[in-house]
Amino acid sequence: MEFKKNQLVEVEIDDMGNEGEGIGHADGYALFLKDAVAGDKVLARIIKIKKNYGFARVEKLLVPSPDRVEPRCPSARPCGGCTLQHLSYEKQLEYKFNKVKNCLERIGGIENAGSFMEPIYGMDEPYYYRNKAQFPVGRNKAGKLITGFYAGRTHSIIDCTHCSIQHPVNEEILKKVLDYMERNHVEPYDEKNHRGLVRHIMTRVGFVTGEIMVCLVVNGRKKELPNLSELVESLKEVEGMTSICVNSNRERTNRIMGSKVEEVYGPAYIYDYIGNVKYQIGPLSFFQVNPRQTKVLYEKALEYAGLCGDETVWDLYCGIGTISLFLAQKAKQVYGVEIVKEAIEDARLNARMNRMDNVKFFVGKAEEVLPREYEKNGVYADVIVVDPPRKGCDKALLDTMVKMGPERIVYVSCDPGTLARDLKVLGGEGYEVRKVAVVDQFGHTGHVETVALLKRKGQ
Ligand code: SAH
Repeated sequence: MEFKKNQLVEVEIDDMGNEGEGIGHADGYALFLKDAVAGDKVLARIIKIKKNYGFARVEKLLVPSPDRVEPRCPSARPCGGCTLQHLSYEKQLEYKFNKVKNCLERIGGIENAGSFMEPIYGMDEPYYYRNKAQFPVGRNKAGKLITGFYAGRTHSIIDCTHCSIQHPVNEEILKKVLDYMERNHVEPYDEKNHRGLVRHIMTRVGFVTGEIMVCLVVNGRKKELPNLSELVESLKEVEGMTSICVNSNRERTNRIMGSKVEEVYGPAYIYDYIGNVKYQIGPLSFFQVNPRQTKVLYEKALEYAGLCGDETVWDLYCGIGTISLFLAQKAKQVYGVEIVKEAIEDARLNARMNRMDNVKFFVGKAEEVLPREYEKNGVYADVIVVDPPRKGCDKALLDTMVKMGPERIVYVSCDPGTLARDLKVLGGEGYEVRKVAVVDQFGHTGHVETVALLKRKGQ
């Protein structure tokens, strides 16, 4: 049967895709549907036709899947954040576990992957888990000052100060900032004509320390914000408020933050801990957004690294050195490599603050620094840890890792597809996957974080 755009068809959803979308078949033709879950029967409107598959929208839910739940957020469907809030958390975990397993088997060519995968590490409380939020500010059609979230794939703001995955303190903060703006006639930024001042309200919360940062991202400078002391007095009423600052972003850009930060109250950073390691976090620092599950993830990486205290460890794609410092607690020497210079400055600062002098950081591409250090200086590793971005590891890096022949490789990954691809390469070079743990860092979204332990075959 030939399908046409806008046609209505009944489909039973029997699978879920990479982004958490439902997959159903009509006459053998695969349709991908946002907001549908396995087990649903829906009336679907076809919105895009491709040769072997198409995209459709849920026009009407005919029979809901038994795995559906009522989303906590009233704006869950239009909001561009969570994509899986309508699926029970238990089923979300099952979906993520299977996603990793399927990638390992189909892309990685690993047989019976389930036999060495640990049960998935889900969150005890899958709500209010994020420590960082960025709320756009604007006006709605009626001219009311609002803040909330962008609707999926757009820049239209949904008026919503309560988000079920953000820290609940944000609601109070947002109200105080909007009150201050109203009283002092501070205009929100309007990206259409590049006018107005306040673009975003950014917050960060230290889950262990309780310290809170509020950073206003403005199309201008701090001095253009009138009566800032009024805002400070109001925000100081929030328990834990230790840092208020302004970030200037005058560009016509989708990037939220600019590069300049001015202090308003307290220093322009907060502290937090993951395990025993203390980190200083500024408005521009990259820091994992789910600190509780990050601890689970890093502890798993540390366990897989199997350190006794004599080892030399390389931590590639190290960011601000979060994993490096975690490993440095148990290793003799850790080397971290990261491409972003500012991240390495944070990493060095954090190492000093934790009095760890057995860590050394390099700025550069992992696939250039490691081969160079190996060829020139003959560097050595007992354990290599990698935590690359979604595109996975560069082939030149994998080749050098194999040449160095560490006893263990710990691969931390945010994309099971490229993880499986890289494990296949390492598998062809004498390494074997021994253990895999999936950790849910991003409940209600399709994202999944995995740690894999590889050892040389026969060891
Ligand atoms: N391990 C860190 C960060 C992982 S995110 C943590 O847990 O916090 C991946 C990191 O890889 C980012 O910081 C990114 O800037 C860095 N990166 C991207 N491409 C890189 C490359 N070719 N070489 C080194 N680092 C790279």
